[in-house]
Amino acid sequence: MRFDIMTLFPEVVNCVLDSSIIGRAQQNGHITVEAHDIRDYTLNKHKKTDDTPYGGGKGMLMATQPICDCFEAIKKKHEENTKTYVIYASPRGRIFNHQIAKELTEYDNIVILCGHYEGVDQRVIDEIVDEEISIGDYVLTGGEIPACIIVDAVARLVPGVLSDKECYEKESIASGLLEYPQYTRPPVFHGKEVPEVLLSGHHENIDTWRLEMSLKLTKERRPDLYEKYVEEHGEELEKLEKKKKKKII
Ligand code: SAM
Repeated sequence: MRFDIMTLFPEVVNCVLDSSIIGRAQQNGHITVEAHDIRDYTLNKHKKTDDTPYGGGKGMLMATQPICDCFEAIKKKHEENTKTYVIYASPRGRIFNHQIAKELTEYDNIVILCGHYEGVDQRVIDEIVDEEISIGDYVLTGGEIPACIIVDAVARLVPGVLSDKECYEKESIASGLLEYPQYTRPPVFHGKEVPEVLLSGHHENIDTWRLEMSLKLTKERRPDLYEKYVEEHGEELEKLEKKKKKKII
């Protein structure tokens, strides 16, 4: 899977996405990430990429030509007959979540346009963008952090990027619940002990304890997710209750 990021600050994107798991995924050829400097496509002497908005108002807008030329150059890098989706990172967009990350794995190429200043000329959005995506109800100074978030969340679902599918299927949100508490060595830290069941080696009991903890946390913190899970997993939860009554666990 290929990610192209159109930005005025490629160093910001590279700094984040060239390290750790996403950096390794690039080195191992599971994904390709390329940040493109929109400024390289300006045709004016001063490499100016922005201008004042028509109609007045504060701030500057990113202009059409450098972005569109940058996008044309990116398209040439895409292999023939591959599926491309173009995103504009924008607080006006659909709020990003795990489901959208999953949908995006259906594409071969994801192109993300990062805005800056007051945003970009609407004609660019109309011409090249498939969807505006927001990473939350707040406004950032630029689209680089949103772009990194989108790439990270999508890339970790690409086969091979994580060691095992289970790494993301059993996690918060993807599983439908929030994750249970986890512990590692030492067994006692500042007087606090690791729950006994986790040291028991009894896998069924451990799984049941984890499910119970996940349910408890989700009910407390995300009642919306909890309701949905209960609706979809009624039978499994009934079995759990029966086991508890019979004191099997
Ligand atoms: N004037 C724009 C508005 O009111 O919608 C906000 C522009 S913002 C200061 C500059 C850039 O940061 C945007 O063009 C966008 O690319 C990015 N950005 C800011 N907040 C974002 C968010 N919540 N999600 C995704 N991108 C965001």
